[in-house]
Amino acid sequence: MNAIKKLTTVTLLTLSVSSCAATQQKNVVTSDFTYPNGARYAVSLTFDDARNSQVDVGIPILDKHNVKGTFYVNPKFVDERLDGWKKAAKNGHELGNHTSSHLCTGNFAWLRKDDLGLEQVDLAWLRQDIEATTTYMKEKLDVEPRSFAYPCGNTFVGRGKEVKSYVPLIAELFKTGRTWLDETGNNPTYTDFAQLAGNRMDGMSFAEIKGLLDMLKENNKWIILAGHEVGEKGLYTTDKAALDALIVYLKDPKNGYWLATVDEIATYIEKHR
Ligand SMILES: [Zn+2]
Repeated sequence: MNAIKKLTTVTLLTLSVSSCAATQQKNVVTSDFTYPNGARYAVSLTFDDARNSQVDVGIPILDKHNVKGTFYVNPKFVDERLDGWKKAAKNGHELGNHTSSHLCTGNFAWLRKDDLGLEQVDLAWLRQDIEATTTYMKEKLDVEPRSFAYPCGNTFVGRGKEVKSYVPLIAELFKTGRTWLDETGNNPTYTDFAQLAGNRMDGMSFAEIKGLLDMLKENNKWIILAGHEVGEKGLYTTDKAALDALIVYLKDPKNGYWLATVDEIATYIEKHR
């Protein structure tokens, strides 16, 4: 979540995409993995936190094109658009778990809960926090989540020699876990479902997102794009016009992509690799 690092990453990616596109294209390695309908690459559109603009702006764009997204939710935001989230689940969008507390490293002072950061909690605390969201989702949304996204992409509890990974906990509780701000896509024959790579789509134009896909797609990659708000382009807002253009591009069979939810693609890969 550190904004300067992220901005730099986006800028670097954009620069390298524009300067190296031709080279990248030449170096694309064709491997054997194929997706449904002969697609060579896969993309999932994912959104974190259950922000209101996802219900108000994002889901109507997906519905217009009849495509499904994966939404990793926090109960406190779901409550603000409960009927909208129920309808989204009924319409086939995937809802995943994003914890209750949204606890990240305590370096994000504004994300601390009761003044705690991940450095100060243990696995038992986190398990309870995650299971509370699953219980909420079952009761309020009639959904049993199979997918999880790590808040801020952080995968640890504790400090120094006492640090423990919570990836094994996610592997126990869910089929998949997605991180954030990775610089790679997921190789279908190799990737670990408990730590799926996620890439930013917030703050980018359609041309920039397409450049990112071109750069990451070699070896039949599954690229998981992640956003927060949906509206006018911003650091934590996926641009609504870019999203619309991206879906049109991904749905065109000549571009070689399969666009589906995280759980659909993970299930397909598990069966076929
Ligand atoms: Zn989040």
